[in-house]
Amino acid sequence: MSAIDSLPPLREVIATHQLSARKSLGQNFLLDLNLTAKIARQAGDLTGCDVLEIGPGPGGLTRGLLAEGARRVLAVEKDSRCLPALQEIADAYPGRFEVINGDALEIDPLEYLTPPIRIAANLPYNVGTELLVRWLTPKEWPPFWESLTLMFQREVAERIVAQPGSKAYGRLALLAQWRADARIVLSLPPGAFTPPPKVSSAVVHLDALPELRFPADAAILSRVVAAAFNQRRKMLRASLKGISPDIEAHLTAAGIPPTERAEQVSLEAFCALARELAKA
Ligand code: SAM
Repeated sequence: MSAIDSLPPLREVIATHQLSARKSLGQNFLLDLNLTAKIARQAGDLTGCDVLEIGPGPGGLTRGLLAEGARRVLAVEKDSRCLPALQEIADAYPGRFEVINGDALEIDPLEYLTPPIRIAANLPYNVGTELLVRWLTPKEWPPFWESLTLMFQREVAERIVAQPGSKAYGRLALLAQWRADARIVLSLPPGAFTPPPKVSSAVVHLDALPELRFPADAAILSRVVAAAFNQRRKMLRASLKGISPDIEAHLTAAGIPPTERAEQVSLEAFCALARELAKA
């Protein structure tokens, strides 16, 4: 296959800049530029978009995003050892790539970005879920981003897209699917990464919905879902006892049998319950 840009191959970049992977930073690098371009394509049409990337590392996905036509890529990278390698990409794409050296959990990149904004990342596993939850729970909806294209451990990806009745179904599925269309778009074996992680990975693409899928108060819904799945084997009339003394009546009014277990209840039904509780 032809090269996606005129920069050196990633193995050479890693050797030149001595970027030995650090486990503490969740570093499992993608060194196949055709694969990173394929992941970038899953992010949708990048022309005219600013892209926020977390954890560019040696820049494989970054190069994919730029080659796919992103107007600008803004990356947040904690490991300062990666900065010289990333500077070479900035030089090859003048005015289109900028790096902030810092912790994505502490930096608010919004002031550096111009809509429309997409987020794409091969996330460090130790911060991936926390970032996803933050991006899904801003004060206002719709959020600042139009889509998220994110690499997760396969097991986490399955929890995001899970449907009622499955073991993976829970708080993450409800949160993601209340606010976005979510689907797994690529599966990757451990061998796709250097060094290979212990488990398989998957890329999840989420498109932000213009409005929440079903009306409900976010705080009430979050409390109900947390209580329901904290005791997921119990019947809802027991697990939700602490939410309201009349929980059986509220469940019935929402069309949910009080003997049902959390795992069987759809997002639509949880939202109906949250609305019933808001009336009380
Ligand atoms: N995107 C690169 C790739 O696909 O090869 C690297 C992916 S590697 C799984 C995760 C990257 O996130 C590493 O470069 C790591 O240094 C960086 N990282 C880890 N924790 C971070 C944090 N809290 N904020 C920003 N970057 C972080």
